Amino acid sequence: MQFKDIVGQRDVINRLTEIIDSGRVSHAQLILGPTEDGSLQMALAYLQYLCCTDRQHHTTGDLRADSCGTCPSCKKISQLMHPDLHLFFPNAANSRVKKDPSCAEFQQEFHDFVLEHNGLATLDDWYESLGIENKQGLINVRDAADIVQSLSLKSYEGGWKMVVVWMAEKMNDQTANELLKTLEEPSPGTVILLVAESDERLLETIRSRVQTVRLVPTGSSRDTALAEQFGPMLVAWLRLLFKLKMKELSNQVETMAALGREQQKLFLQYTLGVMRGCFLSSAAGIPYSIGSGDEKFDAMFPRMITQENIEAIEQALSEAIFAIERNAYSKIALMELSFRMSKALKKK
Ligand SMILES: [Zn+2]
Repeated sequence: MQFKDIVGQRDVINRLTEIIDSGRVSHAQLILGPTEDGSLQMALAYLQYLCCTDRQHHTTGDLRADSCGTCPSCKKISQLMHPDLHLFFPNAANSRVKKDPSCAEFQQEFHDFVLEHNGLATLDDWYESLGIENKQGLINVRDAADIVQSLSLKSYEGGWKMVVVWMAEKMNDQTANELLKTLEEPSPGTVILLVAESDERLLETIRSRVQTVRLVPTGSSRDTALAEQFGPMLVAWLRLLFKLKMKELSNQVETMAALGREQQKLFLQYTLGVMRGCFLSSAAGIPYSIGSGDEKFDAMFPRMITQENIEAIEQALSEAIFAIERNAYSKIALMELSFRMSKALKKK
């Protein structure tokens, strides 16, 4: 997970990378915000940056720095295979583990789950995937013992020893109390990230021992965050689809392909949403604003999406998303998409 894969939160991210670069890493932190807003993504991107051996500092764009994504450490963390990274999460007995459930029993399931959802799924999704039916998950005292234990071991790779506790509010009092000493006096070279959606259910004794990183709520404003992030790129691309000047279009596709797979998918999903909004506006008069930041374009463009072309556009975008998910060569997939979109747009 790289910071660039997170929607919005640029100020939070830039502050975090600055702190890491200055070497003032706090050993116990609470990352506070809904999973949908990227709180687990933030924890994973944070650790990846912390351990990256080739941190990238940018002079352009909205992120001052990011992990490289390609060094051995980045690869291991992004695949959740780093031997010094330990993940803890709410769990309960299911049809396979009938007695004394603990995180240790569900590591593989949880890793697969996080990777599959790119760190964005909710607690309910996790419970469903775990198949615990109506039981409530818990981070229990067995897990607390494992957290303490995993931080007391020697680091395998000689670097940071890292613990992420997802949904830390699911620790019961006993678990939380077991962790107090570790949070207060962590052994050197350790970093513990508690990830929680709300700090109300965390014991005051825990809250006072961690440094809190509060995400900016996106929620319904997720669309706004996406528009801010991708609006200018979408407008530039759509303009070129009308003109169809090959050299400029090819450069634009190059820029889009450089986003990386997850961001490309997000961009195309955002585009799909915009196209549907535009269609509802032109066909049914439902007010819709693209919010791209380019007022002239926002006023003109929705009229271009009509009954004549919406289906072809939706299909082209969905197929491109599918191709990118299936690891197709993005530049080709995006170029083919550009031609199909261009053709459809001229059919209004
Ligand atoms: Zn790296």
